[in-house]
Amino acid sequence: MLSGESCVLPGILSTQNGIIVNEIFKLTGDLSDIHHRRLFGSWLKRSQEAALYILLGPRWKPRDLGGITCPRCGGKSHKRRGFRTRIVKSSKGKFPFVLSQVQCTGCGRTHRPFAMALGVALRRVLPELEEKALSLAVKLPYSPSAELLKELSGGNLSHEGIRKLVHRRAKEHKIKPPTDVNHGLVDSTKVKAGDKSRGMDVHLAIAVERGSEKHGRATLKKKLLHLSVGDAVPLKTTLRSIQVKYLAHDGELDLKGYAQVTQRCLWHMGHQLKHYLWRDGLPLTERGSFKDKLYRILFSQDYTVKDAKIAYDKLINELQGLGLKTSAGHLVRAKGEIFNYKKNPALCFATTSPVEREMRELNRRANVGARWSPKGIENLLKILFLKRFKQYQTLAERMHPG
Ligand SMILES: [Zn+2]
Repeated sequence: MLSGESCVLPGILSTQNGIIVNEIFKLTGDLSDIHHRRLFGSWLKRSQEAALYILLGPRWKPRDLGGITCPRCGGKSHKRRGFRTRIVKSSKGKFPFVLSQVQCTGCGRTHRPFAMALGVALRRVLPELEEKALSLAVKLPYSPSAELLKELSGGNLSHEGIRKLVHRRAKEHKIKPPTDVNHGLVDSTKVKAGDKSRGMDVHLAIAVERGSEKHGRATLKKKLLHLSVGDAVPLKTTLRSIQVKYLAHDGELDLKGYAQVTQRCLWHMGHQLKHYLWRDGLPLTERGSFKDKLYRILFSQDYTVKDAKIAYDKLINELQGLGLKTSAGHLVRAKGEIFNYKKNPALCFATTSPVEREMRELNRRANVGARWSPKGIENLLKILFLKRFKQYQTLAERMHPG
């Protein structure tokens, strides 16, 4: 050790080997946090004092310009009444600041004229902390979200507080689907919500277009068109309000007429066929060959539309001949739209797989063991997908668009 070194550096350096840099990082961070807190408080105080100077004149020579309105009597005459301490929650812990108070000379009411403009009249939580909480909440259950928020930042919001925040944001955000959609995809899944043990349906509709190539693979640009929990009426209302050219769907709902051209998802056709074969009592070992047969007809590039239709009808006859009525009915119902992708070369999504990817994301967050309220899960999923598709706007972005 050089002479004089021990006086300059803190004692910690000579005693705790290995954690020195970490300790210094923490120490300097704490100092900077103290500075942050002071700056925050003094900036807020000075800006309010400057505003009061303009509105009420200098302290030593008041002249009221009538720029402040009393919330009780509407009076325009006020005098200063000092400051009141307030606390806001931020991602760096609780930050104190002061709010200036004025008193109405008419009715005597004391109020804080800048609380609304500063955004602290109703809320004691900074939006920056709320946005961090939301980013966690769309990935994790509310309790771990609250715990991680506290661990990774100094922010302290309860799991119930985060749930209410999701509800509030979902109410503020309307899904704004574009009026003209080239390719739309519709899929549904079950979530554990409501009173029925089977749960409830979530209906998801997205718009999808091919984006630029990235690492040799085409990227997909997705936009949220619709999300609702419960029956299909809201979904159909949304689809009616927009113009969709090509709509691929899983066949759970009859969506004929809800787009210029509808297309049953090819993948779902085979998947559902296996289910119907099971209902028709066919043993498991024999179900696969029918599915393969159907997929050959649906996916083969060699068939013309005419050939494919003939092969499809033959398969229907074969199923009927074997007494597999439900399965045959499944193919008959899809007949009208199953080969639309062959007739319309511009229809480039004949399966719902881009939305399937989103369904996995949905299930990952929704299946957390708990039973949801229908609105509770709908709110959360809405924020989840608005964020995934970059349609979510923070408070600051909404106030200053562009
Ligand atoms: Zn008043």
